[in-house]
Amino acid sequence: MTNTPPREPQILEFANSPAIPDFLIKDVRAKLAYIDEAVDKASIVEDGARIRLVLKSVPDESLQKAIEDKVARVVTAMVKGAFEPRLRSLEDHMDRLHAYDRDPMDELLAEREVVREGNGYYTLGPKLSRLIDYMESRFLWLAGEMQAEPYRFPALIPAEYMERVKYFSNFPHSLSFVSHLREDLEVIEDFAQHACCSHGVVDAPDHSMAAPGAMLTPTVCHHLYYALADQTIPMDGMTVTAYGHCFRYESSNMISLERLWNFTMREIIFVGPESFVKQGLEKVRKKAAPIFADLGLAYRIENASDPFFIGTFTNQTAYQNALELKFEIRALLPFKNDTVAVGSYNRHQTFFGTHLNIHMENEELPHTGCVGFGYERLAFAFVAQHGTDPKGWPEPVRAYMDDHAVC
Ligand code: ATP
Ligand code: ZN
Repeated sequence: MTNTPPREPQILEFANSPAIPDFLIKDVRAKLAYIDEAVDKASIVEDGARIRLVLKSVPDESLQKAIEDKVARVVTAMVKGAFEPRLRSLEDHMDRLHAYDRDPMDELLAEREVVREGNGYYTLGPKLSRLIDYMESRFLWLAGEMQAEPYRFPALIPAEYMERVKYFSNFPHSLSFVSHLREDLEVIEDFAQHACCSHGVVDAPDHSMAAPGAMLTPTVCHHLYYALADQTIPMDGMTVTAYGHCFRYESSNMISLERLWNFTMREIIFVGPESFVKQGLEKVRKKAAPIFADLGLAYRIENASDPFFIGTFTNQTAYQNALELKFEIRALLPFKNDTVAVGSYNRHQTFFGTHLNIHMENEELPHTGCVGFGYERLAFAFVAQHGTDPKGWPEPVRAYMDDHAVC
């Protein structure tokens, strides 16, 4: 890797030798956002041959060197030993007609249907909220068809649990920590008198905050597995459904409704024998197809892997790919001629059974699996394909909007 002199004071460019292969470009670019706080934007250009970083300010020589070393570390760790994943498509409806091909975000922001509260979190107005209510009503029906039992989970999850299921080592970059002031009268009074919000962050006196014992939860199904820790489950398995807020800090990768820090999901979760989990997921996929048809959504379903951090990336993605443990519902975003995952089918084999000491009545470890539908991305892909005016939306959606309009 060679560092060429900056073309503009705040831009650093690096040549990659050999070039980053096509199938890794998105994953490497996503990780570059986390290498240094000075990085504002990362891109990989010239077919993977060069990395371009836009920095927040002009770097001095030692910062340039430090960034160069970190880029080299990320690229080496992710490219070495990587192999091209085998892609298999389970469904392909990419040829569904779409009437719209602009980025809907500008219009949504202009009409205040989407209001930005902070980096990666937004308020949604009545139009998108009703659209999501429609989707939720359809997925709730689907959960009912699967005889799923409803659960409600908290938005917090214990740090101890996250460590037990290896979340700290697999996804450290996306964790969101929850703290509070230490229980100490002086600390609390000192905070009340001196703390302020400066440059968008709380500027508190040193040592005011307690070490975080809880995290904002990154996903829904983990709460069910935690509730089943040290328990025995029936031989014929469990089917559960829940809706929840999820939190994944995605740094400068957070753009529009496509990639958020705080998003919501409906999951249907299976715990039991392997065949029960596999068949459950397959049944959901078949029953979900008419819902996506009513949404008029152009999408395909293909296998994928989770966004592991660099330390475990290569091994874990290879494992998931070889065993086809994850399939994503990838919806078309016509304005960028790309797709985004709006949902996923996941199998974890006996991972949670093993780490949480869950057993079936015959003492064997249960398998687990889940399907998650991400509502903000579904709504975003939907308006990216059909536009922001409900008059142009598919008939079943319009009918729901009319029925649920305020008179
Ligand atoms: P990606 O690879 O795009 O980061 P993912 O496929 O790893 O996402 P899953 O862990 O499978 O995501 O989560 C299930 C669903 O949750 C996704 O299909 C998507 O709809 C939604 N989702 C995940 N991360 C985000 C995010 N940062 N912003 C908005 N929705 C998200
Ligand atoms: Zn899940």
